[in-house]
Amino acid sequence: MKKVVLIKYGELSTKKDNINFFLTKLKENVLYALKDLDVTVDYDLGRMFINTNDNHEEVVSRVTKIFGIHEINICYIIDSIDFDDVSKEVLKLLKDKEFKTFKIETKRSNKKINSTSIELSRKMGGVILKNISDIKVDVNNPEILVNIEYRNNNTLVYFEKIKGLGGYPVGTLGKGLLMLSGGIDSPVAGYLACKRGVKLEAIYFESPPHTSIEAKNKVIALARKLTSYNGEINLHIINFTEIQEAIYKNIPHEYLITIMRRMMYRISAIIASNRNSKILINGESIGQVASQTLTSMSAINEVVKIPVIRPLACFDKLDIIDIAKNIDTYETSILPFEDCCTIFVPKHPVINPDKKRCSEYETLIPYEELIYQAIKNHEILKINTKEKHEFEDLL
Ligand code: ATP
Ligand code: MG
Repeated sequence: MKKVVLIKYGELSTKKDNINFFLTKLKENVLYALKDLDVTVDYDLGRMFINTNDNHEEVVSRVTKIFGIHEINICYIIDSIDFDDVSKEVLKLLKDKEFKTFKIETKRSNKKINSTSIELSRKMGGVILKNISDIKVDVNNPEILVNIEYRNNNTLVYFEKIKGLGGYPVGTLGKGLLMLSGGIDSPVAGYLACKRGVKLEAIYFESPPHTSIEAKNKVIALARKLTSYNGEINLHIINFTEIQEAIYKNIPHEYLITIMRRMMYRISAIIASNRNSKILINGESIGQVASQTLTSMSAINEVVKIPVIRPLACFDKLDIIDIAKNIDTYETSILPFEDCCTIFVPKHPVINPDKKRCSEYETLIPYEELIYQAIKNHEILKINTKEKHEFEDLL
């Protein structure tokens, strides 16, 4: 009998023709997440198995952060489909457990076995009752659920069912560029896009000295949190100071944010296209602030052709905060360092910006040249799951 970690796919199983593409990617992502452990991975169209002599619990805890997985189990593989062989091993496994009530749930993908699943469950239940004293069957609320799957060449036995994250394996839907600020929303937006199989790169606009090194480190720390789900992240850091100062000096203040965001979109679209990213992703949510009214979003969005995906468009802030807590980005996001938007915030930002006026105001600054320079000089950090960036301890 061999102890492994078993993975079930869920929604992926519906990908009939290209399921192999999805499964190859899933295997690659699993191996990446476990790369410092001694593991091998086998799979077929229904199940994936992680073989390891290392800590199974550690494997499970990492795999619970991988998208494309419906359920995870610590599982025992018995190299036989003979009922007597299987029942002997099941008894051995149960001897180590303390319980008063149990239930057997059988699956039988091997249709050559004559008995039905229900008959097999009953028979196994009988063997267990005969061999272990003071226990009984409880089909509604058992202390132990014994899952048994009879396959073509072997049988799987497992107890606990651990819920996976669902979604698609990261990378199966291509790349997207996440506009990552230090706030609560954008890491959550990135997480949700990642869940649909999008491999993230990220872009951050900084304005030193108006924004601090701590603000940048916070973004790096958030990017690192996302690597648990996404794998390595390339973080593009754009120095936005000159553009922001030019806007501040030359443009009526009620339009500062609208124009600033149009510049961010333009730069993000160019970086995305250079990096083969098919979409931009950001944390905008309808109505949350003046720049996120429908008129504002339309005036900002008109400067780019690339699709802009806003996973949080229809989420309430409290629901966003719940996800941020679940994915462990919240505590970092609420650290009190200003990002470049908050410093240049006008008293009365326009709520319904006029597109024609946006374009007119933009002629007042040499923005194409400024954008060219900002992109030419931009910095790329490779953020890994494990190694910390030298500045992060300053947080
Ligand atoms: P967040 O909580 O994510 O900071 P927010 O509610 O503060 O969002 P805005 O500041 O208007 O909203 O920003 C909306 C979105 O624009 C952010 O979610 C993020 O995707 C992007 N964004 C804002 N500032 C930056 C920045 N400095 N660098 C990169 N992206 C940014
Ligand atoms: Mg913000």
